[in-house]
Amino acid sequence: MWDLRDELARREAAGLYRRRRTVDGPQGPVLSVDDRALLTFCSNDYLGLAGHPAVIAAFQRAAADYGVGSGAAHLVAGHMRPHHALEEELAAFTGYPRTLLFSTGYMANLGAVAGLLGAGDAVFEDRLNHASLLDAGLLSRARFTRFAHGDVAALAQDLAASKGRRKLVVTDGVFSMDGDIAPLAVLAETCRAQGAALMVDDAHGLGVIGAAGRGSLEVHGLGAQHVPMLVGTLGKGFGTFGAFVAGEEDVIETLIQQARSYIFTTAMPPAVAEATRVSLRLVQQEGWRREKLQTLIARFRAGAAQLGLPLMDSSTPIQPILIGDPQHALAMSAALEARGILVSAIRPPTVPEGTARLRVTLSATHSEAQVDCLLDVLNELPVS
Ligand SMILES: *Cc1c(COP(=O)(O)O)cnc(C)c1O
Repeated sequence: MWDLRDELARREAAGLYRRRRTVDGPQGPVLSVDDRALLTFCSNDYLGLAGHPAVIAAFQRAAADYGVGSGAAHLVAGHMRPHHALEEELAAFTGYPRTLLFSTGYMANLGAVAGLLGAGDAVFEDRLNHASLLDAGLLSRARFTRFAHGDVAALAQDLAASKGRRKLVVTDGVFSMDGDIAPLAVLAETCRAQGAALMVDDAHGLGVIGAAGRGSLEVHGLGAQHVPMLVGTLGKGFGTFGAFVAGEEDVIETLIQQARSYIFTTAMPPAVAEATRVSLRLVQQEGWRREKLQTLIARFRAGAAQLGLPLMDSSTPIQPILIGDPQHALAMSAALEARGILVSAIRPPTVPEGTARLRVTLSATHSEAQVDCLLDVLNELPVS
């Protein structure tokens, strides 16, 4: 093999080395990490559904009924009754004519963008979009333009100047590393005025924000008529695994014909779909989980402001503390861990240079006392 040692060493010296931890047991506020119990603020299981007894029971029942593997791609023999039922229920929940399941959010984004766009088209993306959306834009071979974060005026100029055949604007609903919500109402209006389509990836919004859990669109009072394509992931607020694209009939049919990350991969295990049907029901029936989250978010922000911590402008469960230097962010994360608290340090290239941060995420399963504990420990650490 090639000599990769130098590159790895350089990465390590720059504080950019990534390491995995081994977790035992289900997601929850306290995780067993490398055999040590840690109070955890870095899971995307925002509603506490990943280990919910009813979700687990549905998974087990369906494994008994359908087996574990789906055995084939959706277009071959892998599209099972649970997949189909989940697609219909997700359409009803999101208010779109149809949805299409993908095996992961990464694949949903690749398929949605590259399945609809090609050479001669144009794609416009917020600079802070999730890596999978940026990769999707590159993969599509459409002309690729990035606009400054949330800068709709700049986007409008780019759109007006574009000669693309089809124009697609792509944005995160809730930005995954910042926690802010995209200015969707203005984006939708700009797209309408410029004859562009809008696609929103609401991986961190669906189920989690909006009174009914319909995410960033609900927060902005928008629906399918304003945002023709919506991507949702199932591994975060829904607590299971997989993803879907929602859109009108012809969009979904086109993806079935052309999205390579849909066609050339094995369908998700049917038991995952059955478990997700139950978590979707819980998302809709148990609004208290979202209310609890909002209480915890307010408590954390008030406490952190009192301590003078550099919070970002976020009303969602993603509450980053801006640190700047990657080594310092790592040191803070290590100091928290030494005191029994797990918060991940997010460093470039995941976030722009100079904006390394501690990414605190809250879950409905945290108690107020646990949030206070995090604040107490943060108070003992030097932030800058
Ligand atoms: C996590 C995430 C994805 C990827 O979803 P997976 O199901 O984990 O592959 C896509 N988009 C955004 C904004 C995300 O945060």
